[in-house]
Formats: sequence, C-alpha cells, structure tokens
Amino acid sequence: MNGHEAQPRERRIPKMSTSTQSSDVRLRAALEAGGQRFTPQRAAVFTYLVNTESHPTADEVYSAVQELLPTISLATVYKSLETLVGCGLAVKLTFADHSARYDGRTDPHHHARCLVCGRVMDLVGGIPEADIEPLRDEAAGFTVTGYRLELSGYCSGCLPEDGPAPALA
Ligand SMILES: [Zn+2]
Ligand SMILES: [Zn+2]
Repeated sequence: MNGHEAQPRERRIPKMSTSTQSSDVRLRAALEAGGQRFTPQRAAVFTYLVNTESHPTADEVYSAVQELLPTISLATVYKSLETLVGCGLAVKLTFADHSARYDGRTDPHHHARCLVCGRVMDLVGGIPEADIEPLRDEAAGFTVTGYRLELSGYCSGCLPEDGPAPALA
C-alpha cells in the first residue's frame, strides 16, 4: 500500500475551554447555513466530537456531554448528532451490524476498525488516485463519486494471544 502504515494519528488533547470559542463561531455559521439554530446542546456535542479521535457511539457522546450538561437527554444527543451530520459538521459511520459511530473529522480519510471491541481509528495513509482508476474502469455503468476504505482486524488491546486469524488471502 505505497509504504503507508495503518497507524492511528497522534491523539489530540481535548481543550474544551480554549478551543470552544472558535469552534462555536464555526458551528454557528454552519448551523445557520443549514437552517438550524445554535443551541448549547449542539455546541457541547460538536465540541466533544471535534476534540476526540475515538469515533464515539451516540451513547459515548451522551456520557461525555452529560458531564458538561447534566440535564441533556440521550434523545437530544441523538438529534444533535444527526443535525451536525446534516449540516456537514460531522460524519456518521454506519456498519453492517447496524451500529453507528460519529466522526468530527470531515476531511476525506480512512479507518481501521477492531473486530472485537469496535474501536475505529483514523488511517494516516490512503490509496493514490492512480490505484483507484482500474477499479473505476471495472465498475461498468456505474458513476463513481468516491470510495470508503476500512481496514478490519484487531486493535493492540484485542489481538488474540495465538495471533490473528488468517487475514487477506
Ligand atoms: Zn479492540
Ligand atoms: Zn475518522
């Protein structure tokens, strides 16, 4: 894969107090462009999402945001997440088992997902456009507008002691 290794990016340290102001300005503008109101609940969910690389589930967002807004409900967290996704401020990652995780990073990037704990990590590398082209040619009659790459396997905490199951053939 072009010498790229699937390693998680360096973890950003959450800086709730110092980064809140600029992220609120960005949030307010994007919400209003999408016909949505700025609310403290949406701001808290957004601030948490852009400061974590854990690709949290809605439940995990709820637990974290509750520390700031103890009265917030899970339903409000769900709705806030969907609003952020609708306004292009977050990405919803859905999986075959119907679980969903949210990503505050909206630039194109790819993921590695642990088969045991479900953890999702960002990949540093990608696939060069030139390597995507042959796939495009084979997708006859299909208009390709993008692609999603997900590596599956075991995170360092979940790797079986007798080694990973046979992976790629
Ligand atoms: Zn794991
Ligand atoms: Zn991501």
